[in-house]
Amino acid sequence: MAAKITPRDKDYSQWYIDIITQAKLADYSPVKGCMVIRPRGYALWENIQQTLDKMFKETGHSNAYFPLLIPESFIKKEAEHVEGFSPEMAVVTIGGGEQLEEPLVIRPTSETIIWSMYKKWIQSYRDLPLLINQWANVLRWEKRTRLFLRTTEFLWQEGHTAHATSKEAHEETLKMLFVYKRFAEEFMAIPVLSGQKSEAEKFAGAVATYAIEAMMQDGKALQAGTSHDLGQNFAKAFDVTFQDKEGGLQYVWATSWGVSTRLIGALIMAHSDDKGLVIPPKLAPEEVIIVPIFKNQNKDLVLEYARGVFARLKDHYRIRLDDDDTTSPGWKFAESELQGIPVRIEIGPREVEQNKIVLVRRDTGEKQTVDHTQAGQTIDRLLEDIQNTLFHRALMFRKEHTYSVSDYAEFKEIMRNKNGFIEAGWCGDAACETKIKEDTKATIRVLPMGREHDEAKKCVYCGKPSRAPAVFAKAY
Ligand SMILES: [Zn+2]
Repeated sequence: MAAKITPRDKDYSQWYIDIITQAKLADYSPVKGCMVIRPRGYALWENIQQTLDKMFKETGHSNAYFPLLIPESFIKKEAEHVEGFSPEMAVVTIGGGEQLEEPLVIRPTSETIIWSMYKKWIQSYRDLPLLINQWANVLRWEKRTRLFLRTTEFLWQEGHTAHATSKEAHEETLKMLFVYKRFAEEFMAIPVLSGQKSEAEKFAGAVATYAIEAMMQDGKALQAGTSHDLGQNFAKAFDVTFQDKEGGLQYVWATSWGVSTRLIGALIMAHSDDKGLVIPPKLAPEEVIIVPIFKNQNKDLVLEYARGVFARLKDHYRIRLDDDDTTSPGWKFAESELQGIPVRIEIGPREVEQNKIVLVRRDTGEKQTVDHTQAGQTIDRLLEDIQNTLFHRALMFRKEHTYSVSDYAEFKEIMRNKNGFIEAGWCGDAACETKIKEDTKATIRVLPMGREHDEAKKCVYCGKPSRAPAVFAKAY
């Protein structure tokens, strides 16, 4: 039986959940708000992780691991940090059957425990910069959860760097923002806007937060990665100083940056369709699947030919031959579409007879028949073309759903009837931001970079002069 997926335009939320459960990416756990990542979902995460890990190492970072449990007093040391994270914290008070002297927080993020260690490790300018990344799980007690997008426990990476100057820390913040942007666009095939967050949307404890924001197929925004300039806030909270070249004592400058399993949610929502997943080839756990089509009388002939094609391709692609004879070719086609395998090769008796193969691309459904000797070059071209097509399709969609607005009535009208990104002037006052959110549910996603000096516009809400254009959207 083919999977039953609720169509996108009927119920977008249900469509998203149907894809995850039917494609077996994840499942609900016995603990409310937590998620079980199934092998197919985890394979996707491994590809994301491996690609990013390489990019982090290329930019000079090393991996380390810090404990899951953080003394409660650490979290309390940075005022904004504790205020921001307290409502979401899970706290361990009993260990080994005894009440603990000091409660331990299950990490919601690791700035505090890491900076308590940096105090031991950093004495001199020679110890800087310190460029560390951690792959880990974190826990934030969420009231409303959704598979991959918002779960109580999730997997992520968190980079934590220490620097001798404010300028260096700021450069690092932007460098990692652009690593995320490059990953999103080149590998996930999702165009992103990058820019600074408003005060209301920034990370608890940061001087400035930067983010990449992607548009989903329902016109809502999804924050896909953040990079924070932490200034000296955590160095001061944990008394981390270093001796500079001139012999003076200074507080260290910090950054942190992270992406999470939320990216899998972004991937699904940006590209998939009513048949199931659509995955960019560069991250697909399987790039190609071969489906032989046979009846009892020609089974051996077709399978032998299919195995020959598989043998020639297996060292070059992540490829699988589906020779299971308990399911029909039609079922296998639907299943490969549900799983989002970018290229399907169909081989029946006619192809065997003519030394051909049929290739079907997942994104458009287009079919072509080529000589089996041309399999490799055709697959190469198809994978590249699918990767590019997905990116451009998403980019076109974003363009079509981005509006430049100067009138607040029009702003409200757009947010009421069609979602999307609205570019509008904003005076910089948090009060206007709050009012807009109350009226329309739209928040400032980013203040786009390099646009700070755009021709003076007026705040779309209050009409005062705008400091910089802002991009508003409803967000996940
Ligand atoms: Zn205003």
